[in-house]
This record gives sequence, C-alpha cells and structure tokens, in this order.
Amino acid sequence: MRKCAMLNKDYTKEWKQDGIIFFARIDPCSWMYKDYGLQISIANTKDKGWIKRNLDKPFEKCIVEDFEKLCTYVHLIKCKKCEKMAFDPKYSSTNRKGLCENCFLGQLERDYKEIVKKGQRETRKRDEKLKKDGYTHRITAWIHPKEGGDDRCVDIYFSRKPTKTMIYKELKNKGSRILNDYSIFTL
Ligand SMILES: [Zn+2]
Repeated sequence: MRKCAMLNKDYTKEWKQDGIIFFARIDPCSWMYKDYGLQISIANTKDKGWIKRNLDKPFEKCIVEDFEKLCTYVHLIKCKKCEKMAFDPKYSSTNRKGLCENCFLGQLERDYKEIVKKGQRETRKRDEKLKKDGYTHRITAWIHPKEGGDDRCVDIYFSRKPTKTMIYKELKNKGSRILNDYSIFTL
C-alpha cells in the first residue's frame, strides 16, 4: 500500500527486529471516540506482550505513513529476572516494569496468591477470637446489591447454627437480591 494512502481500520504490519517478530494493529478506540487520535498496539508475537503507541491526529485524517512511523524501532531491554527480551518501560507505555511477559504474569499470580493467603490468615484469626467470645458459626456470603454495582463478599457470625431464615434475613438486610450465595463454616 502507498504510504500516503488513507489508513484503513484493519491495517496491520509485521516486521522483524533484533531477531524478534513484531506485529502491530490499530486499536478500535482510534475510530470509536472522536478526537481520540491514532493508537496502535505493538506485540511481540512470541510471548504476546503488548505496548501502545499514540499519535495525536484524528483517525480519519491518518495516512499509512502515520501508522508506519509509530511502528519504528521498538526499544528492548533484558528482563530484570530471566534476561529474556522485555519492552523498555522508558520508551513504552507498558505496566510490565521491565519484566518479560512470562515473568510479569508469574509475578501477578504470586501477588494474587499472597493476597488470598493473607485474607485466609486474617479470617482464621478473627474466627479464633470470635469463637472465644461465644460465636459458633460463620457464613461467608456474596452480596449482590439490589441497586446494581459490584458484588461484595462478607463474613457474618452467629452464636448458634443459623437457619435458612436467619441467613436470608441477614442477607436481605445487607441489600442482596440473591439470598443463597453463601457457605457456612463451623468455628
Ligand atoms: Zn523474564
């Protein structure tokens, strides 16, 4: 395609740099929102990591050359952890912080597991304390707000085994439209 031709929504490009194959495509926000400008995603096709690049020019006015310019040299560094290729955060809008895609996803998973474990430790501690205070059961329930919005998880304690009616009443009071999304635990 000629470089001065108008840019098509489905225009893509694949090229090789430093032995790595990169792929670029136009992000839909470029034409979905007025005056957003041109935004492209550049991927390292091997490990699927992405970076974004932007040009402050209305999409309808963009030509192929604008796209091509955004696809120039991709700055790379060695991953801080495993030394594989990573996008250089100094030159790219990326939240990968100098890690390759694999190490980044691995870190994300470890962080998540740690949060879950921490939550479980805190619940156990609270269970023990409330057991001493005379509570015997806990329910962990999802509140699905009647008025919409995000579901949230709550712990409710009882000093005897709760009946369904008792649980429904508690969940209703908390504004949930679904009354059977809970698990019950003996302390
Ligand atoms: Zn790595």
